[in-house]
Amino acid sequence: MAAGAAARREPGPGPGGEKRILCVGLVCLDIISVVEAYPAEDSDIRCVSQRWQRGGNASNSCTVLALLGAPCAFMGSLAPGHAADFIVADFRHRGVDMTHVAWQPRGDVPCACCVVSAASGSRTIVLYDTNLPDVTAHDFELVDFSQYKWIHWEVFISKDVARHFGYQSAPEALQGLHSRIQPGATLICAWAEEGADAMGPSGELVHSDAFPPETLVDTLGAGDTFNAAVIFALSAGRSLQDALTFGCQIAGRKCGIQGFDGIV
Ligand code: ADP
Repeated sequence: MAAGAAARREPGPGPGGEKRILCVGLVCLDIISVVEAYPAEDSDIRCVSQRWQRGGNASNSCTVLALLGAPCAFMGSLAPGHAADFIVADFRHRGVDMTHVAWQPRGDVPCACCVVSAASGSRTIVLYDTNLPDVTAHDFELVDFSQYKWIHWEVFISKDVARHFGYQSAPEALQGLHSRIQPGATLICAWAEEGADAMGPSGELVHSDAFPPETLVDTLGAGDTFNAAVIFALSAGRSLQDALTFGCQIAGRKCGIQGFDGIV
């Protein structure tokens, strides 16, 4: 990486000279309806409340990192328009750096209609994400990686992905996927109320139970919260076991509130 080229695109370190954490991936607009109970198909109901929220996996993880006090940056695609205006204002509000947003001249900002059931805390997501070009290798060439202490880009295995591969539990997914990852890598898999499991660089297995909130309120973004909290802990030099436990604690707290304010 040519230092001169990179310097044009970097925000500089966070307060106190601390290196940032970069999260690469999706940002979208979440339109969230909180309902008393999940509706029947073809019914016509009122919701308890409705809100717009900046969403998307990498974007949510940035929100949580910012709330935890870690300087962080988001990298992903946006296209100008009302949805992007809302998203940019919210990134600013949270203090998330946007230097590496890839502004696309065409395409729609992804939008998710989310139904959160107050009865169960479940979240049902319908995502429109079809035509916005993704970030490219060229976008990465503009990043001075020395400015970052951690770059998050799908390392974690979600239970949805694990189930897609046919696994029924986190330990099963770790054992099954072990042979498909680079030697020395760490694999982490969260599994809702069962907590999370991880396999360390030498194949050691660690587990944390979940920390269920008093009342399950909103699980939208629980996985993103878990990822952010684990990254926060690992990037501060804490052990895999500590990081997993911290991830489950913060994610459990998130499940007890609407949105993210109040997780710390
Ligand atoms: P995703 O949002 O990717 O579906 P998960 O449902 O696997 O994520 O949840 C991620 C983490 O959030 C879990 O490891 C757990 O710590 C916490 N969590 C999720 N659902 C619950 C729940 N019902 N009770 C307690 N903790 C939960």
